[in-house]
Amino acid sequence: EEVANMISAGEVVERPASVVKELVENSVDAGAASVTVEIKNGGMSYIRVTDNGGGIEKDDLKTAFLPHATSKIKNGADLAKIMTLGFRGEALASIAAVSSVEVFTKTKADNFGSLITVKGGKVLEEDETGCADGTTVIVRDLFFNTPARMKFLKKDSAETAYITDVMNKVILGNPSVAVKYISQSKTVTSAGDGNLKNAIFAVYGADYAKNIIEVDYSDENIRVSGFIGNSQISRNTRAYQTFFINGRNFVSRALSAALSEGFKNTVMVGKFPFAVLNVEVNPAFVDVNVHPTKMEVRFSDDKKVFEAVYWAVKNALEKKRV
Ligand code: ADP
Ligand code: MG
Repeated sequence: EEVANMISAGEVVERPASVVKELVENSVDAGAASVTVEIKNGGMSYIRVTDNGGGIEKDDLKTAFLPHATSKIKNGADLAKIMTLGFRGEALASIAAVSSVEVFTKTKADNFGSLITVKGGKVLEEDETGCADGTTVIVRDLFFNTPARMKFLKKDSAETAYITDVMNKVILGNPSVAVKYISQSKTVTSAGDGNLKNAIFAVYGADYAKNIIEVDYSDENIRVSGFIGNSQISRNTRAYQTFFINGRNFVSRALSAALSEGFKNTVMVGKFPFAVLNVEVNPAFVDVNVHPTKMEVRFSDDKKVFEAVYWAVKNALEKKRV
């Protein structure tokens, strides 16, 4: 079992940024209105994620660390209508298999909170504790028992950059969640007043935020909303294109192509338009269970999604022109 956990851990936990991503997704799934992420040494020595979400009940805390323990889906039918970011029940078990994890958590209904310490998959401590409503997860000594994985990591500064990228996506995907991101005791980003434009400002700065155009398009099945950039902030990299499907960040060449198609008659500085777009569809039309990192998705009808993005972009640009 322990070995199996370490193997599946390798799929979910590639680097510190994967830990941050999974933990913050759990906070968002728990309905948190605020999330604070603190890291040290690119997350290698220390990652803390604190949220004010629903918390975990005392009796469920140990279970949450078991492989395939998820409170989010109960059967195959649920898998077809996933609205949460998590559903595989692998993250906590995988992270705890290759690090030392401490969780402090309390639900509103409970008077006391509980804590648990798990290291290398073994529970070291369980106790009651006084703590605020919500959940704090602290991860230390990542990959202490998997030297091969440790060697594969880059310098702290590079690992920090991966985490910053994850945090930027979290901020862009959840403009209503107050997010604070701290590295080496300094606040890197603070955002989340409910306004996506302000989130774009927080992530990319004023030069970008003043060159964006609002997108809001719906047909009977799909809504596409967010912002695209004007020609000034187009770039020769797709790094400035962020897509969400029902709030889940994913990478898609197809949507990138749809975006470009919408810009077809626009003269641009760079090859790729800037974009932060959320596509909302009935979850039954999306398969998010393609890969353990959940970064790939499949649509039951690619063409419909492609067309919706194309028209969303085209309409937004035309509206701008008149
Ligand atoms: P998944 O998110 O796929 O369900 P995880 O391993 O990430 O699996 O988490 C296991 C379970 O632990 C979750 O289903 C949830 O019930 C609980 N959990 C984890 N993190 C939090 C949190 N921050 N707040 C509330 N519950 C949490
Ligand atoms: Mg999860």
